[in-house]
Amino acid sequence: METTELVLRDARLVDGRQVDIHTLDGLVHGVHEAGVEDFANLPCEMLDGWLILPAMTEPHAHLDKALTAESVPNATGDLEGAIDAWVSAASAGQFSFEDTANRALTAMELLLVHGVTAVRTHVNVGNGTQGLEAVLEARRHMEGLIDVQIVALTNVPMTGQEGRTNRAALTAAIEAGADLVGGCPHLDPDGPGLIGHALEVATEAGIGLDLHMDEDLDPSVLTLRDLARQVIDTGFAHPVSASHCVSLGMQSPEVQAEIAARVAEAGISVFPLPQTNLFLQGRGVPTATPRGLTAIAALREAGVVVAAGADNVQDPFNLVGRSDPLETASLLVMAGHQSPADSYSMVSTCGRQALGLPEASIQPGDVADLVAIDAPSIRAAIADAPMSRRVFRHGVLVASADQQISIHRAS
Ligand SMILES: [Zn+2]
Repeated sequence: METTELVLRDARLVDGRQVDIHTLDGLVHGVHEAGVEDFANLPCEMLDGWLILPAMTEPHAHLDKALTAESVPNATGDLEGAIDAWVSAASAGQFSFEDTANRALTAMELLLVHGVTAVRTHVNVGNGTQGLEAVLEARRHMEGLIDVQIVALTNVPMTGQEGRTNRAALTAAIEAGADLVGGCPHLDPDGPGLIGHALEVATEAGIGLDLHMDEDLDPSVLTLRDLARQVIDTGFAHPVSASHCVSLGMQSPEVQAEIAARVAEAGISVFPLPQTNLFLQGRGVPTATPRGLTAIAALREAGVVVAAGADNVQDPFNLVGRSDPLETASLLVMAGHQSPADSYSMVSTCGRQALGLPEASIQPGDVADLVAIDAPSIRAAIADAPMSRRVFRHGVLVASADQQISIHRAS
């Protein structure tokens, strides 16, 4: 393997120190006071005092759906409206292989330029593997730039006689190259049955599990408890994540703490998805409209790995979204009441941990997936989300963006 070496000159750490970061073969090799070491002829990237941070992670995307807000309108604005809009467009054959691959590729590029070097995406596989193959194709075009994990998102029902075709579709998706088993137990007539089947299939395939969980404000919907119990009882050996967990946020503090402890014991990561939850949830509740976020504080208190994502971007499930985890972090600050530093960790290092990727940071020995941002602090980076960024994956510059602003005063 060829040696790669790069010096990130004059980067600023969150504690204000100016440093030169020497990367070697994908890892941080050394961190030195800026301007002191002579790196002789090593290639370098001048960062001019920009803030250097661990690169961002998008733990929950739907790249097969991305950028369809105009072509797939959501008539009611809620989750059912989004699902109906998507299913009827898909049944009408609206999404070709090329269209899906192109949109997924554009969405990956948007994530990359904002500072994301690892993304996990769900892909609908209930009606065949075309969408999965299109996202696999887009992933091949991004090789070396961004890590992409693909979850097979199944249709309901997955259980009973009626679920036979959907169960076969999951098997086909795994054979076609899906990395994890997905599904939506809260939408199935037999949620615990779906979870049991998903664990069996994942065990057989030797892969992890990432379920859409309890995307509902009704507190009686609580399949997260079943997931924790079954993961503990079966001793399931691969990574497990639960995305959304909206109804956990509707429980009493006592129930939140009890379930969070079980989730921690089971080693399940939880992914709050503030953009889509704020967009879809609570539409029928005009007074004191709930935010639809999971119990972030209780989960973190219990020691659960909590990583936040944006979920859908500019599609019927979320009409807006910038493909920028700093937008997610901003919502964690405003709607989730988390500190800016914790919010940033939930869109960066915690995501890598949940995705089973080696740690990326500015410590020697860690993976040199880093992002430099022209901002004075993490708080300011989240607040302003400036587009002046440099993105490094494995110590290689993989994306650059520069924001230019001019004010033209009358002279
Ligand atoms: Zn989702």
